[in-house]
Amino acid sequence: MPAVARVEPLTTARALRGPFDYLRPDGVGVGALLRVPFGAREVTGVVVALAEDSELARERLAAPLEVLERSLPPDLVALAEWMAHEYCSTFARAAGLMLPPARTRERTVLWAERTGEEESARLTDRQRTLLASLPRFAGDDLPALRRLERRGLARIAPRARRRHIAHAAVGARAGSHPPALTRAQSEALAEVEAAVAAGEHTALLVHGVTGSGKTEVYLRAAAAALERGRGAIVLVPEIALTPQTVARFAARFGDTVAVTHSGLSAGERHDEWLRLRRGEARVCVGPRSAVFAPVADLGLVVVDEEHEASYKHEGDPRYDARAVAARRAQEAGAVLLAGSATPRPESVHALRRLRLPERVDARPLPAVEVVDMRDASGGALHPRTLHALADEPKAVVLLNRRGWSNFLECRSCGRGWQCPHCEVALVLHRAANTVACHHCGHRERVPRACPDCASVSLARHGTGTERLERELGQLGLAVFRLDSDAGPAGPVLVAFEAADRGVLLGTQVVAKGHDFPDVSLGVVVDADATLRFPDFRAEERTFALVTQLAGRAGRGGQGRVLVQTLDPSAAAVAAAVAHDADGFLAGELARREALRYPPFSSLIRVVCSARADAPGAAALAAGAVREAMGEIMGAQVLGPAPLFRLRGRERSQLVVKAADRARAIAAVGGAVARVAAGRAHRAAALSVDVDPQ
Ligand code: ADP
Ligand code: ZN
Ligand code: ZN
Repeated sequence: MPAVARVEPLTTARALRGPFDYLRPDGVGVGALLRVPFGAREVTGVVVALAEDSELARERLAAPLEVLERSLPPDLVALAEWMAHEYCSTFARAAGLMLPPARTRERTVLWAERTGEEESARLTDRQRTLLASLPRFAGDDLPALRRLERRGLARIAPRARRRHIAHAAVGARAGSHPPALTRAQSEALAEVEAAVAAGEHTALLVHGVTGSGKTEVYLRAAAAALERGRGAIVLVPEIALTPQTVARFAARFGDTVAVTHSGLSAGERHDEWLRLRRGEARVCVGPRSAVFAPVADLGLVVVDEEHEASYKHEGDPRYDARAVAARRAQEAGAVLLAGSATPRPESVHALRRLRLPERVDARPLPAVEVVDMRDASGGALHPRTLHALADEPKAVVLLNRRGWSNFLECRSCGRGWQCPHCEVALVLHRAANTVACHHCGHRERVPRACPDCASVSLARHGTGTERLERELGQLGLAVFRLDSDAGPAGPVLVAFEAADRGVLLGTQVVAKGHDFPDVSLGVVVDADATLRFPDFRAEERTFALVTQLAGRAGRGGQGRVLVQTLDPSAAAVAAAVAHDADGFLAGELARREALRYPPFSSLIRVVCSARADAPGAAALAAGAVREAMGEIMGAQVLGPAPLFRLRGRERSQLVVKAADRARAIAAVGGAVARVAAGRAHRAAALSVDVDPQ
């Protein structure tokens, strides 16, 4: 047996590049976790390879101090090595995403129930919603629940840990009996099953309109993998917003399913990880981090709602779970099954497409109508929209802007209120009596008067969800607000589902995956907000947003969607009105090919930032990176271009557009490492984002 274990230390210091050689303890293979002496310190490391010999003499090799109980499967070690390179990061940072959280002693969690005493109690709306969401685990709402407990309205007690895996808060209608498939579902499934049976890597895309029964195809695909003794990973955009998908998998496969999400405690996550690692659970359902689940003999990786931006991770490494899923499936000889009603042009280009052109109940898709805001006078809602809201009992209204108003302005001298750390306007939040920065979290009390001219006449421009909630409330509508200021999503969705009438109002989250059969109206308040976004994906996002919102309406009958815009002729809006996904995708791909955007090239973004008291450091570093990149074959380097100041740091960015992805990644990675190692640019920090969103 090899005598040497090559070990990568799990430290975040970028400068420490392993692997380092140690004596191999008996029984230790690739993936083992060791405590090893490291200089004067002791660190945890991962065995990445075994070797017969080392460049060091045998007697100079140190022996590990301890072999830890848990270990990484070898395929995840290989995946971490690939990620470190692909995202210009380090092995330790990539492997850090794959390790289970340390076991904690806690074996119970707090479970909250109603006491049934609330009849006569005086409650705020939020407290009422909270009570309506019980019984369940207390989670983040513990402080609020404790207050209700003191009033005798709730009971909170510890409960044994694994009790909770009942994911049925919303949409509990889904039973465990599989329905008879529609013809389109059968045809799509036949292809998926053939691919699973072939036991080779295949990449498929289910392009199915909203309500076409994609989840049923995923469920049967997972069953096919299990039948062949193979495991499955099912990625969903966000657990709190897709409880129905999780509930369906749990109902169909029971204990074979492990669920990972941020709502679990470290101990619970550890246990779910171990159940997978030991093979007790064979299917893992979770958000993007579930792509690292230790599922053995992987046969299927599902990416539900594959267009969702939440698959991109915004920390180092800046990985895209969709790309990692594709890599993992490829290495494992597994089937990659992505699905969406609004797939990305990239996926349509790269994957074999299976179509589900109709809703399962053959109901028509809702009529999408453009509301031309050029004829509206002032208010956030057009009179036509107001009429529709008055007519329809249940509606979903999307306004992608939190807070009361976008910005404040002094009517006398024109002063605006800006974040002291970022070059952006502060947003008014009336209930919290603050103006807040949506980028860094800075808050101030709402000013009474202008500090420059003492005028008390301050204009509040624009409308956010908080203000629209008030306006709709004044029209006599019951409003259920869903955004990150309004508390956790779960209880709001439960309350909206239970209500006979009402408006679910919120930011983008309202358009995601929910299945409320009695919603008949959808409204996009400001389609221009996404259209105006300075990004080559603006059109794609707008089309997806309108189409997905349309998917929330009319699931139980005829539905309609109103899209308010100042630009009714925009291609994305026109395509959504016509339900013309194919036309939109064809146009979008042609445009991207002409402009050499993904998938016809790869983009890599390098952001250089420096404290604002180091003037120009960010721009200088960006210039140095550009120079060090030299000639990347056939690549275009754009910038350095200044970005707005963020969290007290000046920023400057470069964008590389290249056809040869591997070479571009190597060149950018090398250049950034060289500039960072040099002393000249110490004041600046560099971050690389491959495939930026
Ligand atoms: P999608 O994800 O494509 O929007 P879903 O998978 O959420 O659609 O399915 C919509 C609804 O149709 C769900 O309530 C689901 O249980 C139901 N459903 C799926 N397939 C069938 C079928 N073959 N027959 C009847 N109902 C079905
Ligand atoms: Zn003023
Ligand atoms: Zn700020």
